[in-house]
This record gives sequence, C-alpha cells and structure tokens, in this order.
Amino acid sequence: MLSEIETAVMSVLRSGRYLHGPATKSFEESLSRQCGAKQVVGVSNGLDALRLIFRAYIENGKLKEGDEIIYPANTYIASILPLSEFGLTGVGVEPSETDYNIDFQALKRAVTSKTKGVLLVHLYGNPCWDLPTARFLKENDILIIEDNAQAIGACAQSEGFNGRKETGGLGDAAAFSFYPTKNIGALGDAGAVATSDSSLAETIRALANYGSDRRYHNIYKGYNCRIDEIQAAALDVKLRHIDEITHRRQSIAETYNNEITNPLIIKPALLTDRRQVWHQYVIRTKNRDALRKFLADKGIETDIHYATPPHLQPCYLSEHKQHFPLTEQLANEIISLPIAGISKENVSQIANIINQYEQ
Ligand SMILES: *Cc1c(COP(=O)(O)O)cnc(C)c1O
Repeated sequence: MLSEIETAVMSVLRSGRYLHGPATKSFEESLSRQCGAKQVVGVSNGLDALRLIFRAYIENGKLKEGDEIIYPANTYIASILPLSEFGLTGVGVEPSETDYNIDFQALKRAVTSKTKGVLLVHLYGNPCWDLPTARFLKENDILIIEDNAQAIGACAQSEGFNGRKETGGLGDAAAFSFYPTKNIGALGDAGAVATSDSSLAETIRALANYGSDRRYHNIYKGYNCRIDEIQAAALDVKLRHIDEITHRRQSIAETYNNEITNPLIIKPALLTDRRQVWHQYVIRTKNRDALRKFLADKGIETDIHYATPPHLQPCYLSEHKQHFPLTEQLANEIISLPIAGISKENVSQIANIINQYEQ
C-alpha cells in the first residue's frame, strides 16, 4: 500500500495542482460509494467537517441560534465544539453500558419541542444507530448528524435513510476525520462531509471556500476548509484497502476478546448484529491507574479515550456545571489497549500479561 501511496502522491507533485483537482474529485466519489451518501465534500479536518455541517444548516434555515441539539455526553470534545461556537444549545445524554454510545431510551426522553438536531457519535468504531428512534426523529423534523470520525467502514444493524447500513451514510449528514491515527489516516490533517442533501453539500462547498459560490463572488462569510490534493490522493488509495485495514483491527480485537479472561476486566461488547471497526479497543477496570502502571512496568503503552469528558473540561465548566455520572465513571475506568500496527503475537502477549494482573 505504501508504494501505491508514494505513486499517488508523486503524481500530484508532478502535476503541480495542489488544490481543487482530480484527486479530490476522485476521493470524494470513492467515499460517496463507500458510505452511500450521494454527495461528499473533502475538507480540511474532522472538526471543520462538523463546523461546516452546523453552519450550513444555519445558513439553509434548518437550524438557528438557541435550537437544542442532543449529543452524547461520552464523546471527544471536538464532537460538540461547533454547538457552542454557533450558539446551539447542547443537551447531553448518558451512554449505554453496552457500547458506550448514546443511550437511545435516554435520547428519546431528552427530546423537547426545541430539539432540532441529534448528534450521533460512532465512538471507538461502534456504529450508533437505532432505526425506530431515527424514524421518530425524522417524523419530528429533527436532523440526525453523524460524527463518523472513528468509524469509517462500520455497519449498523439496520438501514439508514439511504437504505444502506454504512456509518456516515445513515443520517442526514456526517463528518469524517482522516487524522493520521484514525482508521483511514491522511499524511496530515484531512476530513470530509457526506450527505445526500444536495443543497447542504452546495452550501458546504461554498462555505469551505471563503463563502464563494463562484470565483470572487461571496454569498457567505465563509472559511478556508479545503482538502489538499496530496491528502485526497493518499486517502483514495487507502479507501481501496479499507477492508484489509478494517480486518486487521477486527482480528486484533477478536484475539483480545478471546484471550483476556481476567475477571477484574470488563471487555468491550462484541456486537454480532453489526460491524464494529475497532478504532479503539477499550477495557474497563475499577482501579484503572493500577492496571495502567502494571502494564507500563512491563513495557505496554496504553492510553485513555478520554480521561476528561467534555462537560468537565475547563472551557465548558463555567457555562454548564452539569453532571453525567455514568460518563464520569467510564472516564475513570477505561483503558485503550494497543490496536494499531501490532502483531497477533504481541496481542496474545498483552492479553496474557493482563490475565496476570491481580490489583
Ligand atoms: C478525531 C475526532 C474528531 C476531530 O477530527 P479532526 O480531524 O482531528 O479535527 C471529531 N470527533 C471525534 C469523535 C474524533 O475522534
């Protein structure tokens, strides 16, 4: 795959065309085929993809300041930064303990007459979708926006609005991130918006290019959120290999799940009715820091996704002062085990060492 990427990148270099070129077009078409959304706009990064979606819904009159957007309290802060940026009222909802994604029963209870959108985050590569809830939201004219930064290639247990199951094509609009450590990673920053709403896509294309609908004609006060041709070319290659990239992670997750047997550890659920793509393999244990130290002493590097939930970050503390007990408990108990670029033998060794942990 590396030599294919080299060839693709060199070809952009030699072409001398670094923006708005054929690589971007080809990448957008590939991603559209992959996720099933009719339109894809390549952009600068995942956060900008989310910002563009919310801003475009505001420009198109579908959202306005003060509207309530339901979001999962248990997520990465980038998911919700656009809500406060655009004066939307975020309504946090606790996760389900099965997949750590938003709890759909709690989501339904949080809907009010002011609810105009729901942000679904496919955290850790776990598809977050419930067709009856989605239908209920649609009937009530509530937009469904997906944060698909961690779940490219995942499939839900039931179809989305497009009749397909791939995350990123389930709801009304979706944001993708191609940050280098994501399942499909660029050679730097990159992102995309996917939607089957052509008027939304058109607004986003303009917003991402200074707000211009044609050259030197600005209908919005826009941004510069374009994707580089080099990134698009590299991503187009990786998209052709998405199945093998995903299988690698699935096979590591399966090995961890089969071989970790320590009763002190809660393993992530293997959900056979859907396709998980294992952006992270996240275990839980009561005395998390002790296990982390035990593993670090044996040379095993772990990480926490995420130690501080958005509502407890200094930048949100003053305005919210909210309490999400389950989200906070998860943040204190989770550990992400190594999953990227590690061999099957190493996975077995790590599982074996975890089984020796006694607290
Ligand atoms: C990575 C990530 C983002 C942000 O994507 P960037 O490309 O880093 O801006 C947003 N949401 C989630 C859930 C992420 O994991």
